[in-house]
Amino acid sequence: MRNFEYKNPVKLIFGKDQTSKIASEIPAGSKVLMTYGGGSIKKNGVYDQVIEALKDFEVLEFGGIEANPEFTTLMKAVNLARENKVDYLLAVGGGSVIDGTKFISAAIPYDGDDEWDILAKSLGRKLKSAVPFGTVLTIPATGSEANSGAVVSRSEIKEKRTFGGPMFFPQFSVLDPQVVRTLPKRQIANGTADAFWHVLEQYLTYPAGAPIQDRIAEGILNTLVEVGPKVIADPNDYEAAANLMYSATMALNGQIQQGVPTDWATHMIGHELTALFGIDHARTLSIIGPNLFRVMFENKKEKLVQYGERVWNITEGTEDERAQKAIEKTVEFLESLGIQTKISDYTSDYSEASKIIADRFKERNWLGMGERQDITPEKVVEIVEMSI
Ligand code: NAP
Ligand code: FE
Repeated sequence: MRNFEYKNPVKLIFGKDQTSKIASEIPAGSKVLMTYGGGSIKKNGVYDQVIEALKDFEVLEFGGIEANPEFTTLMKAVNLARENKVDYLLAVGGGSVIDGTKFISAAIPYDGDDEWDILAKSLGRKLKSAVPFGTVLTIPATGSEANSGAVVSRSEIKEKRTFGGPMFFPQFSVLDPQVVRTLPKRQIANGTADAFWHVLEQYLTYPAGAPIQDRIAEGILNTLVEVGPKVIADPNDYEAAANLMYSATMALNGQIQQGVPTDWATHMIGHELTALFGIDHARTLSIIGPNLFRVMFENKKEKLVQYGERVWNITEGTEDERAQKAIEKTVEFLESLGIQTKISDYTSDYSEASKIIADRFKERNWLGMGERQDITPEKVVEIVEMSI
């Protein structure tokens, strides 16, 4: 296992009917900007719970943060917060609202010329201040409620960029699994798949003398395989929803990446598919990930065999056959959730995709990605072409 330093300061408040507790987490006298998405929280009671809990605070609202939050929308919230001297943010929503709020937190005190630089130049770790924030999670998926990273889109230039840093951990996150009841099946499937890929990006690399991290990762994968389909079949199954929610948080709260190599190339290529074609985040991962495993097969074979055995009970055949079978089982699982796994299932406009993505990676000097820094732009072309 490699050396590491790990600190995750997020206080998780987990369980039924916990939202009222936010009142004691936010400093008294704060001027709070509550951020949310397209309105699901107004239909399922979460909005009313939050407003009730914040009755002793001065609260401003900013709704309309879209899935794959847009820079231009978020800048409106930044200006509102600056004009009103907001000193606390509360994100009520999924990964999009939480990521968007992390950006708002960074941008409010930013005094550079262009807030887009926070993303384009990945300034997250260089910034001097950020506005503190908490979250009320409404969808188990990204783990953003328990980490310090964010992804923001800018559709006019077809970009989707990441930033992060220790200042962008939420101070607290409320996780009430009951929110799952109103999620469309597509979003439950997306959440399950996103969490699954978060684990695979950190686990499916090469053995690194860290069986403890492997076992935790496999525990999360096995749990997702068990509970994801149950929640899709019955979103009122509270125990299944609770386990799905905590699995998604555990998948990307930083724990399983300590001391081990990580990949993340599936996410970086996937972000480009969302930027170019608007494909849901989790679906981009489900398109790219299996083909990345195929192209980088030799790098990942040993771990694929282990994953195949411990998650899919694949014990027969040669090493190569078992590793291949593990990839096939992964695709079968994703498709069983209702996720299509080819670019052409979503758009017919793909002819230039591999070249555009590879060119962007070259421009950004992303010349060697993955756990061995050997996923070159040429390999990216191969992976994207195979995914069409
Ligand atoms: P999301 O984009 O936040 O939400 C997806 C949809 O679900 C929205 O239409 C939303 O509607 C709806 N929804 C959310 N909660 C609901 C509920 N309880 N009932 C009914 N509908 C509900 O989904 P997400 O998958 O959590 O976030 C995806 C974003 O996170 C992507 O931009 C992705 O790149 C990013 N991401 C971030 C990280 C990270 O670590 N920071 C990791 C992976 C992905 P409303 O808008 O009406 O609420
Ligand atoms: Fe993700």
